[in-house]
Amino acid sequence: MTSTEDQPDWKELDKNHYLFTDHKDLHTKRARIITRADGVYIYDDQDNQILDGMSGLWCVNVGYGREELVDAASKQMRKLPYYNSFFQCSHPPAIELAALLQEVSPPQFNRVFFAGSGSESNDTVVRMVRRYWDLRGMPERQTIISRHNAYHGSTVAAASLSGMAAAHKQGGLPIPGIVHVDQPYWFGSDRTLTPNELGLAAARSLEDKIKELGADKVAAFIGEPIQGAGGVIIPPDSYWPEIQRICDTYDILLVSDEVITGFGRLGEWFGAEYYGTRPDLMSFAKGVTSGYLPLGGVMVSDRVADVLIDKGGEFAHGYTYSGHPSTCAVAIANIRMIQRENLIPRIKNDIGPYLQKAFHTLADHPIVGETRMVGLMGALELVKNKDTMQRFGEDQGAGTVCRDILTNNGLVMRAVGDTMITAPPFVLRHSQADELVEKARRCLDLTQKALLPARGR
Ligand SMILES: *Cc1c(COP(=O)(O)O)cnc(C)c1O
Repeated sequence: MTSTEDQPDWKELDKNHYLFTDHKDLHTKRARIITRADGVYIYDDQDNQILDGMSGLWCVNVGYGREELVDAASKQMRKLPYYNSFFQCSHPPAIELAALLQEVSPPQFNRVFFAGSGSESNDTVVRMVRRYWDLRGMPERQTIISRHNAYHGSTVAAASLSGMAAAHKQGGLPIPGIVHVDQPYWFGSDRTLTPNELGLAAARSLEDKIKELGADKVAAFIGEPIQGAGGVIIPPDSYWPEIQRICDTYDILLVSDEVITGFGRLGEWFGAEYYGTRPDLMSFAKGVTSGYLPLGGVMVSDRVADVLIDKGGEFAHGYTYSGHPSTCAVAIANIRMIQRENLIPRIKNDIGPYLQKAFHTLADHPIVGETRMVGLMGALELVKNKDTMQRFGEDQGAGTVCRDILTNNGLVMRAVGDTMITAPPFVLRHSQADELVEKARRCLDLTQKALLPARGR
């Protein structure tokens, strides 16, 4: 498709009016305009077909073009497009979804608080854990401990929970009462410890911080089972059991941010189940609707819910769109689809192992230092020198170079620094997994040529 007279100049209009994160960069380079999608493929305005190795942004888990989700939304919009949950009101889609979430989540979870996004969900977490300790007569327990290079969202509280140095430099973040400890990132360390030693050391930075602050000042620890936006950082096996032990020892609430890992990505309904932790709260968003409409929320364990309800009074917190009927209807249809099509066992036993095996063949590539993947969530590390694991210079922007080559050659992977990450839709076929890895390999060759033109290797 070429632009015609009645086709607006999307790139020009985008540049002039649509403000998003990196506007200066977009000013010069212009955005790629995505116009439609089907299955695991997106299409741009030039009708280039691109395999979506990121499921949109970790969310379109059941793939594009699923009529059932469209029907669920339109049916609900005709019947009751919107109503709120304040003033002693509720409505069937939110109630049905709440009950369904209880069914698919670990046994300690019987209740849910709805929000509109992952960021709002984590804002809710901040307010809820502080409220919990207040009601228990320990209002001093205020501090929430998170990790460097975590991602929990972009609102003021969620960006404070996040451990992104670049975001913290802007706008005086983090807000008071939020501190950060080490992440379990073995490849990013000096690699003098074994992965399990590193995992234990990272977990013990939580214990050190609790001792430093005093346990009677600490409300909760929050972590993503696998850090997503930070670069798909898969913790060593030693990490989560030690975190659980520490939370138990000091009676700290454990919050699992399941915005990416919830609803199947690791081959279990929730990442906490994959790692065997027992969280008190779980925030979710993204995959709950497969991104067809925006919805988030917090699963609340009986430990927390009982206190909020019994000692309660009003929890002065709620959103206009909490439990939005149309988004809840889509979430119900999405979860039923995941159940009916057995997509989660398929990740555990079929497409997960299949893609992992193919993906790990990339580890022998001359500019790849490591490949890693759990379920359908993986990463590879770009290195300049495979023998010494020396990384490319920061000025080379190797990750961005690689990402642009990938997109131009029909595959979406994201660059986090020089870490290339992927999280394809759950409905990926074997042939499409092969296509993903073949395209990645070809693009790694091209990246090598672009960045190391004079070198033989
Ligand atoms: C995306 C993400 C969020 C933020 O969700 P939004 O819907 O963008 O606000 C929070 N936590 C994690 C782990 C995420 O990946």
